[in-house]
Amino acid sequence: MLGRKQPTPRDDNATAPCPGKVVRAGATFRLTVSFMLVVVIAFISVEGWRTWRDYRAAFDSARDSVTNLARATAQHAEDAIRQVDVLTVALSERVQSDGLQGINVPRIHELLVQQTQIMPQLHGLFIYGPDGQWVVTDKSVTPDTANNADRDYFQYHRTHDDRNLHIGEVVRSRSTDELIIPISRRLNNPDGSFAGVLLGTIKLSYFVDYYGDFKIDDKGSLVLAMRNGTILVRRPFIASVVGKSLADSEIFKSYLPVSNSGVAEVKAIIDDTDRLYGYRALTTYPLVVEAGLSRESIIAPWLHDLWKTGFVLVFLIAVLAVFGLIVLSQLRQRMLAEKALRHAHQAMQDMAMTDSLTGLGNRRRLDAVLIEEIRLARRQGSFLALIMLDVDYFKRYNDTYGHAAGDECLSAVGQAIARAIKRPGDLAVRYGGEEFTVLLPNTNNAGATRVANDILDAIRALKIEHAEHPLGYVTASAGITASHPASEQVTPGDLLKSADEMLYLAKQKGRNGWCSTEVVVHK
Ligand code: GH3
Ligand code: MG
Ligand code: MG
Repeated sequence: MLGRKQPTPRDDNATAPCPGKVVRAGATFRLTVSFMLVVVIAFISVEGWRTWRDYRAAFDSARDSVTNLARATAQHAEDAIRQVDVLTVALSERVQSDGLQGINVPRIHELLVQQTQIMPQLHGLFIYGPDGQWVVTDKSVTPDTANNADRDYFQYHRTHDDRNLHIGEVVRSRSTDELIIPISRRLNNPDGSFAGVLLGTIKLSYFVDYYGDFKIDDKGSLVLAMRNGTILVRRPFIASVVGKSLADSEIFKSYLPVSNSGVAEVKAIIDDTDRLYGYRALTTYPLVVEAGLSRESIIAPWLHDLWKTGFVLVFLIAVLAVFGLIVLSQLRQRMLAEKALRHAHQAMQDMAMTDSLTGLGNRRRLDAVLIEEIRLARRQGSFLALIMLDVDYFKRYNDTYGHAAGDECLSAVGQAIARAIKRPGDLAVRYGGEEFTVLLPNTNNAGATRVANDILDAIRALKIEHAEHPLGYVTASAGITASHPASEQVTPGDLLKSADEMLYLAKQKGRNGWCSTEVVVHK
């Protein structure tokens, strides 16, 4: 825009017609985005925390389950073996006191049959001579050729003096072909020499059936093993696994040496499955039980819940995002509309403060700026000068060349004035008719006089023909006033009046010149 090199503080304010609304729209936009983010983060945090808690709870519950399972299976194995233990103690006493040679085979056979029938876990009871020959059993037929001298337990008792119960690895029965756990005790002659072996066999199926009754998942496992790691029974039952060793498993290597019972999350060496195991070494016998629940089954319900929760969460976030995007897009539209309105308002304001003929500011602009500049000059202690210009003999010009030519002349004069002012803060306005005003902030009388001279020169230089002017071309006169608002009370009216008086004097002096004063307020 012509006539004003730099916006004043008042202009800055004028560019924001509804600052409150603009700030509110921007702040609402940010607030909405922040709110959505906070809600999403809160959702995710709460659900994340809940999911983590459920995960821990699933494992805590599984921990209790495997501990209880291990305790129950250990107790079961201990009871089953103890009953056979007690029985073999009594039987061995009786057989030893009778002497193996003088044994009453039919009576002992009857006794063994009775005992076998009482104890469901028992597969059979056997008495072998020192050469491994079958002496008496609970079976109705005792084969003459049957000899168990090759069995591990027989070899063990023949070469070991101790009278303790010996639990052997699983073997297949020679009498029934069943898988059995041999539990044996050495028989001594009165002189302490080896008299034979008393054997009780426990059916493997007794444990298999018992373990099968537990409600555990398909990948769960129950194991009864010897303390050296040899597997006696395992659920799920696979015959080929019986007799395999767990000695290299984590539980046997790292956990059992430290504690007789506990819980461990390890990978099974038998089937490579990750399980949470409860393990327990039996107190009386060199046996160990393990009860394991697969990691997969432990987390399955939790995983199911996680999927459901995740789905609901994603759905909620999606709804929120859609809702938020709608709100944000409306806000954006509102902000754009406000911006357009602001621009329109600004354009209107510019128009309202612009003189359409010359493109300079108008009197309204001067009124708006002058009061601010006086205030600024007072604060900064600077000078403020005002030049009032008036085209000479302009009535004659109009009369001679017509009103349209007069308008063109005024436009050319206005542009000459605009070109002549140099500083960004200077303001030139068309004050009215053929009168112009130039406001010069931070300028004293001498400076203003230089500017006035430049302007008058520029107008003369236009060489606009004016036949009714003594010089033959268009000129102007100027009234200059400079003030120092910090040291005198100056109002806009004072400045205008003072400049107007100087203009009047310049006209009096013959026009095409200027008059100036530093005295603005006449007391
Ligand atoms: P002086 O040298 O004393 O200033 O004499 P003057 O004739 O210039 O002054 P006067 O006040 O007598 O006449 C001003 C003339 O300016 C009157 C009017 O016709 C003319 N005028 C005012 N406004 C406009 C305008 O917008 N366009 C045109 N063409 N003429 C205008
Ligand atoms: Mg005039
Ligand atoms: Mg005039």
